[in-house]
Amino acid sequence: MNDLITREEETRTAICRFCNQMIAIQAPPGASPAEMDEIAAMSCTCKQARKYQIKVGRMKAAVAWSTERYAEPTRSMVRSAIRSVFEKAVQKVSFKEGDKKTDIFMDKDDYLVIAQTVTQKGEIEF
Ligand SMILES: [Zn+2]
Repeated sequence: MNDLITREEETRTAICRFCNQMIAIQAPPGASPAEMDEIAAMSCTCKQARKYQIKVGRMKAAVAWSTERYAEPTRSMVRSAIRSVFEKAVQKVSFKEGDKKTDIFMDKDDYLVIAQTVTQKGEIEF
């Protein structure tokens, strides 16, 4: 007896967007073409799909990290910034929290970078 019944997945075929190979995937019934495309990209074993899967893994790790690191409402903003930078909708997101400046961007090797700079103001008068 299991009262936590989830949508049962079914075996379907989809085309990998990277290598155009037809592959068998496990998809929930009624999956949209966009969902099928994403499942295919996450299931294929071609070189480009593997690179994409690693990138998605990095993005999920960054989102998980931001969930631990930030409280609302900053958390939602940082998660959305990470996704936007990852999807290359924007090149960079910068924001300030008190004396901390945070920049979120992709570096030249395609790694997501979250860089924090703390501004320390000091004034000594004699
Ligand atoms: Zn592929």
